[in-house]
Amino acid sequence: MNTAKVLSRSSLKALASIFPGDALSLRPEEMLIYGTDAGKKFSMPWAVVRPERTEQVQELMALAQKERIPVIPRARGTNVVSACVPDQGGVVLSCLRMNKVLSIDPRSFTACVQPGVITHDLQKKVRSLGLYYPPDPASMKVSTIGGNIATNAGGMSAVKYGVTRDYVLGLEAVLPGGEIIRTGGRVHKNVVGLDLTRLFTGSEGGLGIIVKAWLKLLPAPEYSASILACFEDEVMALEGVSRIFESGILPCAMEFLPGEIMKCLAGYGPVPWPEDAGACLIIRVDGSVDGTRHQTERIRQSLQNTLYLDVAGQEDEERIWEMRRLINPASFSLGPDKVSDDVVVPRGVVLDAVQGIRAIARKYALNILAFGHIGDGNIHVNYMHDASQPGSGQRVDQARQEVLSLVLELEGSISGEHGVGLSKKPFLTRQVGPRELEIMRSIKKVFDPYNILNPGKGI
Ligand SMILES: Cc1cc2nc3c(=O)[nH]c(=O)nc-3n(C[C@H](O)[C@H](O)[C@H](O)COP(=O)(O)OP(=O)(O)OC[C@H]3O[C@@H](n4cnc5c(N)ncnc54)[C@H](O)[C@@H]3O)c2cc1C
Repeated sequence: MNTAKVLSRSSLKALASIFPGDALSLRPEEMLIYGTDAGKKFSMPWAVVRPERTEQVQELMALAQKERIPVIPRARGTNVVSACVPDQGGVVLSCLRMNKVLSIDPRSFTACVQPGVITHDLQKKVRSLGLYYPPDPASMKVSTIGGNIATNAGGMSAVKYGVTRDYVLGLEAVLPGGEIIRTGGRVHKNVVGLDLTRLFTGSEGGLGIIVKAWLKLLPAPEYSASILACFEDEVMALEGVSRIFESGILPCAMEFLPGEIMKCLAGYGPVPWPEDAGACLIIRVDGSVDGTRHQTERIRQSLQNTLYLDVAGQEDEERIWEMRRLINPASFSLGPDKVSDDVVVPRGVVLDAVQGIRAIARKYALNILAFGHIGDGNIHVNYMHDASQPGSGQRVDQARQEVLSLVLELEGSISGEHGVGLSKKPFLTRQVGPRELEIMRSIKKVFDPYNILNPGKGI
C-alpha cells in the first residue's frame, strides 16, 4: 500500500515544497525504519520529513494543524516504550539534521544545542574545554539531546548528578500551528512564572517540537575511581549501601547486582568474585585526585564483611564496569525473550522490592532479574522467558501486573527512566489518579488543542 495516499494531494504538495529533495520520504522502503523504535511495535508512517531549519518545522506544524495531520517527533528511536511509533498514522519528523552545537559558553557554564546532537558528542566537546554535561543514559553514544529531554533520560550518574531535567535551563519549541515559544533561559536560576521547561522535559514529544535547548554545564571532575564490592548475600550488600551514605560519601554511580545476575555473568565469562558471593555493588566516585582517593578509602572502611573488593583508578576502572555492561548479553542464557520494566521504589525499601519480585518469579515459574541503579532505587526488572512456549507470555503479563502492584504498594513508580509511550499506557491509571490525569490532559490541550502531536503517547 502506498501510505502517502492517506495525505491529500494539496498536503503532499505542501510537504514537497517545505521539504525539498531527500528531506521528504514517501516510499515505504525508505519509511519502514521510522515505523518502529526500540519498543519494537510497528506502524507505517504516511510520510517522513527531515527539517534542517526551525522555519521548516514551523511550516509543517502550521500545515499539520490546519489539515489535522498527526506529527510524530523522532530522534534516534532508542526509547523502549514505542514513544515514536506512528500508530495513528501521520508524518514522522526526524530531528537528526538539526544537529549543531550552537555555542558553548565556558564562563557561564552553558551550552546551546539543536535537538539532534548526540549526547556523547556534546559530552566529549565540553570535556575538551574542561566542562561536564553529566546525564549519561546507557544509550548516550546514539541517543540525542532532544530525545533525552523529551524522555527526561537518566543514567548511572544520577545518584550524584541528577537526570536530564536538572541540566535543561531553557528551550525553544514549535507548537502545533507553527508558533515558537521560548521557555527558561541561559541562567542557572529562574523563578519567573510557571516552569514550562520542566513541563516539556519528559513530555514524550506531546507538547511541542524542541528545536533548541540551553543546557547547564559543570566543571569537569578531575579524576574518578570505581569499586567492585562482593558480599555473601544481598542483605549485606544493601546494608553496605546505607553505610556508604552514612559515611557522608555521595558516589556518582552505585549499581546493585544480585546473585542471579552474578551467576549469569559467571556462565558468560571469567568473573573475579568467589563462588559463594551472593550479591555485589559497583560504585564510582569522582572529584579531585586527592578527594577521590579519600572517598574510596572511606568506602573501603565502611564496607566490612566483603568477600571480594577491588578498587580501580580512572586508568582502568572500565574493567569493573564491563561486568555491568555484560548483564544484558549474559541474561539471555535464562531465556531467548526479554520484557523489561524500570520501576523505582524509595531507596530504603529496595530489599523488600527485590525479595517481593523474587517471590513473584517463583509463583509464575519465571526467571525475573531485578538489578540496577540502587543509588536511586531504580530497579531494572527483566522477565527472561521463551515466548514460543505455550502460556509463557501470559505468565509474564500476570507477573508484570503483580510486580507493578508491589511497586505501587511500596510507594514507588512504574517507570524511573523509560517513560510511558504506548507500552506502559495500559498501566498509567494504576499510578496516576483521575483528577491528576485530567489536569495533565488539559495542559496537553492548551499546547495541542487538536491532539495532532504524538497522539496517544504518554498521557
Ligand atoms: C541500549 C539502550 C540503553 C538505554 N539506556 C537508557 C538509560 O540508561 N536511561 C534512560 O533514561 N533511557 C535509556 N534508554 C532509552 C532511550 O535511549 C532514551 O529514552 C533516550 O532519551 C531516547 O533518545 P532518542 O534520541 O533515541 O529519542 P527517540 O527514541 O527518537 O524519541 C524519544 C521521545 O522523544 C520525542 N522526541 C524526540 N525528539 C524530540 C524533539 N526534538 N522534540 C520533541 N520531542 C522529541 C519522541 O517523540 C519520543 O517521544 C536506553 C535505550 C536503549 C536501547
